[in-house]
Amino acid sequence: MSNSLEKYRKTVEAINSEYATLHSLTNDELRIKLHHIERFINEQEDKSDALNKSLVSVFAIVKETARRFSLGNIEVTATPNDLRIAEKYDFIKISRDKAIYQNHWDVMGVPYVWKMVHYDEQLLGGILLHYGYATEMATGEGKTLVATLPVFLNALTHEGVHIMTVNDYLSKRDFETTRPIYMFYGLSVDCIDNYERCDNHRKATYKSDIAFGTNSSFTFDYLFDHIAIKPEECVQQSHNYAIIDELDSILIDDADNPHIVGGGNYYNNGKIFKENYPLIKELIGNKDIELYKIDKLKKTAIFTQEGKEWLSLNKGIPDLFSVERTYEIADFDELAQDKQNEIKNKIYLQSVFQQLLLALTVYERDVDYIVEGGKVKIIDTHTGRVKETCRWEHGLHTAMEVKEQVEVQNDFDGMAVVSLKNYFRLYKKIAGMSGTIMPVKDELLEIYNLPCASLPTHRPLIRKDLPLRIFKTAQQKDDAIIKAIIDNKSAGRPSLVGSISVKRSEQLCNKFDELGIEYNKLDAKTLKDEAYTIAKAGIGNTITVSTSVAGRGTDIKPSPEAIAAGGLMVIGTDLFESVRVDRQLKGRSGRQGDPGSSVFFASLEDQILQNLSPDDLKDLERLSDTYSINEISTDEVRMYFDKAQSNREAYFKSCRERTARKDDIVDPHRKKMYKQRNAVLFNAEEANVIVDNIIKHLGENSDKIEEHLMSLYIKTKELVRRSTENNPNRTEVLVPFSEAMHTFAIRLEVGLSIASYEYFCREFKRQIILQIYDKEWKKFVLHIMSDLDRKEIELLDTKYRQMMDDINFIILSRLKYASIPFEVRNELLYNSKERKVEKEKSRKVNPAVPIAADEPCPCGSGKKYCECHGSNIRSNNRIKRRR
Ligand code: ADP
Ligand code: MG
Repeated sequence: MSNSLEKYRKTVEAINSEYATLHSLTNDELRIKLHHIERFINEQEDKSDALNKSLVSVFAIVKETARRFSLGNIEVTATPNDLRIAEKYDFIKISRDKAIYQNHWDVMGVPYVWKMVHYDEQLLGGILLHYGYATEMATGEGKTLVATLPVFLNALTHEGVHIMTVNDYLSKRDFETTRPIYMFYGLSVDCIDNYERCDNHRKATYKSDIAFGTNSSFTFDYLFDHIAIKPEECVQQSHNYAIIDELDSILIDDADNPHIVGGGNYYNNGKIFKENYPLIKELIGNKDIELYKIDKLKKTAIFTQEGKEWLSLNKGIPDLFSVERTYEIADFDELAQDKQNEIKNKIYLQSVFQQLLLALTVYERDVDYIVEGGKVKIIDTHTGRVKETCRWEHGLHTAMEVKEQVEVQNDFDGMAVVSLKNYFRLYKKIAGMSGTIMPVKDELLEIYNLPCASLPTHRPLIRKDLPLRIFKTAQQKDDAIIKAIIDNKSAGRPSLVGSISVKRSEQLCNKFDELGIEYNKLDAKTLKDEAYTIAKAGIGNTITVSTSVAGRGTDIKPSPEAIAAGGLMVIGTDLFESVRVDRQLKGRSGRQGDPGSSVFFASLEDQILQNLSPDDLKDLERLSDTYSINEISTDEVRMYFDKAQSNREAYFKSCRERTARKDDIVDPHRKKMYKQRNAVLFNAEEANVIVDNIIKHLGENSDKIEEHLMSLYIKTKELVRRSTENNPNRTEVLVPFSEAMHTFAIRLEVGLSIASYEYFCREFKRQIILQIYDKEWKKFVLHIMSDLDRKEIELLDTKYRQMMDDINFIILSRLKYASIPFEVRNELLYNSKERKVEKEKSRKVNPAVPIAADEPCPCGSGKKYCECHGSNIRSNNRIKRRR
């Protein structure tokens, strides 16, 4: 690496020499120069080589543009593109034939003036990002600006650059900060987090040269695209180049949870959870014997043998725990259906007990989740933010809703799943940056094949990081924290007080309230004021109490008086679960060579110590007994805290490895399935080809099937025609069909389905294929996500082939036997007057009349059809899930 770093330093020199030559160009000439380079790149066969060749010139132009913005407004001859941008953004003014790009605009509603010109270290960082490195640059070094270089260069091929980060505050902030640099040259740029998935602007953003967004938005869009039913629903275009800011947070910390999209079947098990809630509460309240064991760190809870007996007795089911897995019974499949059901019900009841136990003993309000607007919302432990619309799996969320006495929401089957690792492998090139890369460099190389490099700071770091202060009790520790904050306030310095949870923040704030100390608070509950709170956090002696929400990426600017008094003081009120997160919090201070300091506090009562082995805990206790004073901040004691933290990191690493291993098993199958699915989704003819193959393969009579489809078409046509009689503006209808025990619906365009048998046939085939793919794939994924043993993994290829056989069989049976429910057929016999009366009636009782997805459900619930009785037909109501 050091060799390439040397080589790249020469490139930096070359950029700077070319940059010097650009000063004499007019703004119009600068634009023309860039457009020549852009044309050159796009004329080359080997684009990647062309980009490498153009790096020096393009980086020089970006730097020169930054310099011109830093000097004031930029005036150019207005192009049609300038006129277009000026309509949308007010940082461009048009005056006769001139466009004036102002150098000030609002970022997150706060006035902003551009003052940055790339330093040499930033150019070096930009080069490394272009060449696909995970680049460590210290906190506050200006990584937002660094990214402009490779983003700009790679955007010139118009193949799409995705720049992603950990939360939407940062993605929107960086988009708003840097967009004029790109727009000045006509590159299109937007932020996906500004739009909902169903908003066409989101898709347009993916088509632009540069798309900002959170990693989660990108990953979920990928999954949603693969359960889309129409090509137009898909939003992502390509996976060309991804730049990942706060890379270790995304590729390491976030990687222990796969992204899962729920949809399709829904169920609500609130009743059974509510019924059993009092029993589990009683069990927990029973202190006579040990009925359960919990591990708060690993988030597990189990019933002891005594606990199981207690539950069996109190529930009145003597053999409740006699079987815990169906495979424990060798001939389970041969048992009578009711016997099988009885066993399955008992196993399900065990899991209800288990989830309630977890909810009541392990998961804590304002630590793991908050309750807001009558909903239980998960908090991401690493980022401190709410994971919107995510639900815990396996009934845990329901248990939490019962515990918190809020309305129980529906759960959905998992429909699509991908790990971050396998999502990022879709990209031709990835790179990223963070202040904390080197501690995980081996893992990044091994799992993502990412080489790592660490860059020096532009100015020396003068922040003073004081050693960890340790106290015997939590009370002594908190007293010391309060004292440090008060001292800092008296010294005229701002304090950023970092806490590990909302609950901990609130605890500290209560103390401030008692003492009459003013402060600002930032956490998952107060995020709406984020930009404002951050803008104030560096002024004078402001105190800001924040969870890890402000830990990463946040740029706190100390005011001149604050700098004079010593800069921002970061006070960590607990150690976080990883040294990297501690370092990130410290990194809010001492940015860009500013003065500042940091200090963390700990006590022997801290939860982090639970990560030590029992022997280490005993040793620590013995050691602390040798001290007669309360503060025991020695290296010997600190060593135990280091160890506890690294044990915790090792635990997370093993969770990540497990997720990665599991998803690696899914991955090759997912690739096959998605390829096949996309073929059907995007190519209308493919459905016909597939159906013909199935018919041939299974030796069926194609004339008969054709005949059946024709009879379905005649009825469908009549149905669609009538459904628009009173509703002439309707363009699309959902037509329900049934086959054996299943109902399903096909979405049809009104005009086409009346006019064309070919259209009907193709859509019918295409949509049943997609539906059956999704349904069977979902089962396959669920199977893999359960803990498989080696034998089961070996059998997966066979299982995949079996699934494909099943799919063919189900498709065929729908082609042969699908019918329109009989009530509708009877209805066809009525004359139109009777029909009108009957239709109103049947709409109430019979969901088989074609209904648009967003119309009210005929059952009278007041919900949309697609969210009520229509949801089992094809759900639009999908949720995100994390484990
Ligand atoms: P990082 O992401 O590396 O933690 P940021 O991108 O948030 O850092 O930048 C930190 C601060 O440094 C910001 O206030 C930014 O305006 C400032 N900054 C970055 N680069 C420059 C530069 N070249 N000249 C002046 N200020 C800069
Ligand atoms: Mg940053």
